Amino acid sequence: MKKRAGGSKAKAKGRKAPAARAPRVAKPAAAGLRAIKGARHHEMAGVKIDSVAAANGQVKRVVYPPGFRWSIHMKPLIGTELCMHGHVGFLTSGKVQGQYADGCTFEFAAPQVMVVEPGHDAWVVGREPAVLIQFDAAAETAQRFGLPAEHRHAG
Ligand SMILES: [Zn+2]
Repeated sequence: MKKRAGGSKAKAKGRKAPAARAPRVAKPAAAGLRAIKGARHHEMAGVKIDSVAAANGQVKRVVYPPGFRWSIHMKPLIGTELCMHGHVGFLTSGKVQGQYADGCTFEFAAPQVMVVEPGHDAWVVGREPAVLIQFDAAAETAQRFGLPAEHRHAG
């Protein structure tokens, strides 16, 4: 293997890396929205979706813009009364609120793991886009993750 010029100096002959310099870190927003290798990109109702096949499902980065509300922007394209997808993932940026048909509500603020059962409306709160890293298996998502087919209470 060829060594690249300017490669990892820290590894060379046990020399220590300079201690006093902080690593250069990209701005979180910029780093979080860069193109994902091998992803299929599409947009729907202002929502940007990058999807990569992973194991027997997909890993997606879903970016919901400020002002987005499922029942206003997505519902006309989907045709169901509520979003019937289960969402399991990690909210890396932004804030999301939502409501189920029975009036139960939920709220997630990054950084937070998100689990939302099928049968909900949801919307972005504030001026930051909501960025969700979602683990999903298309129509089988709810079943795969042990969620009910639609939100309901045991009692
Ligand atoms: Zn409920």
